Amino acid sequence: MPTDFSDLTHRLPAWVDACRVHTAQGSVATYIPELAHAPRHALGITLHHRSGKSVSAGDSDMRFTLQSISKVFTLLLALMDRGEQAVFEKVGMEPTGDVFNSMLKLELVQPGKPFNPLINAGAIVISSLIRGDTPEHKSQRILGFIRDLAGDDSAAFNEDVYRSEAATANRNRSLAYFLKDNKVLDADVEPTLDVYFRQCAIEVTCAQVARMGLVLASDGVDPATGRELFPKRFARIAKSFMVTCGMYNASGEFAIQVGIPAKSGVAGGILALVPGELGIGIISPALNDKGNSTAGVHLLRQLSEQYDWSMF
Ligand code: GLN
Repeated sequence: MPTDFSDLTHRLPAWVDACRVHTAQGSVATYIPELAHAPRHALGITLHHRSGKSVSAGDSDMRFTLQSISKVFTLLLALMDRGEQAVFEKVGMEPTGDVFNSMLKLELVQPGKPFNPLINAGAIVISSLIRGDTPEHKSQRILGFIRDLAGDDSAAFNEDVYRSEAATANRNRSLAYFLKDNKVLDADVEPTLDVYFRQCAIEVTCAQVARMGLVLASDGVDPATGRELFPKRFARIAKSFMVTCGMYNASGEFAIQVGIPAKSGVAGGILALVPGELGIGIISPALNDKGNSTAGVHLLRQLSEQYDWSMF
């Protein structure tokens, strides 16, 4: 049954107010020092409907960095740049059940090749596949793609978050050198990480993320312009990864409790979508123990139950 958007518009502010208490159970990420300044009790959401209608509530104007949400879009860009075969020679298609920055299975199970493009190891390899003459050129292409999807040119790099991560990313550096040693990463480590840190530091609003989600919900076509931004086949690949790996090692539980494609980031953002209908952008910086926005997940669960969104 299609979502009753006018009912949702009417009821959304009360749900956001009710879900805000869940921010108290989470904590803001601090391993990227700049993210520690985020307002812990913030919660905002925008839903963008295929018809062009949208609704926002709470702190939806807050700007936040995409972080891991960017991995969905660099995957799409890499698929368009290199083709499916070249991409999946380098990264797998399976969930890990481990934390997002884990090294464990790189050595233990499938030597060298990251399990999927939404964990850090896989995303770093994907960043190396983006076409461009220099890291700056690659980063600008990623930003341009995000702006096209958001239908808005105001998305930009947050230089403070970029520098903060670049200065402290010992774990991602370790992953990248390990990948390089295994010859999964063909490019140089530092220029590849530069592209990766920049994509993570793209700053957006809930409305922009909701619109990006709507393009995915519409199989790659921007409903506002009719323009195809990526092929349907790649939309399907991206949405499948969002369902199986998008919420890290909480993806199974999220599939049961909410049941829609979603991708979270450590700044507290969530990109989600109802196929064929809606794009959703959420921000709430307090994270649960799996690194997902705690109030954001509660809010999505409530909405999914209310409007019967689960795909399953
Ligand atoms: N930039 C972050 C990192 O690499 C992204 C991770 C995330 O959002 N989970 O650690």
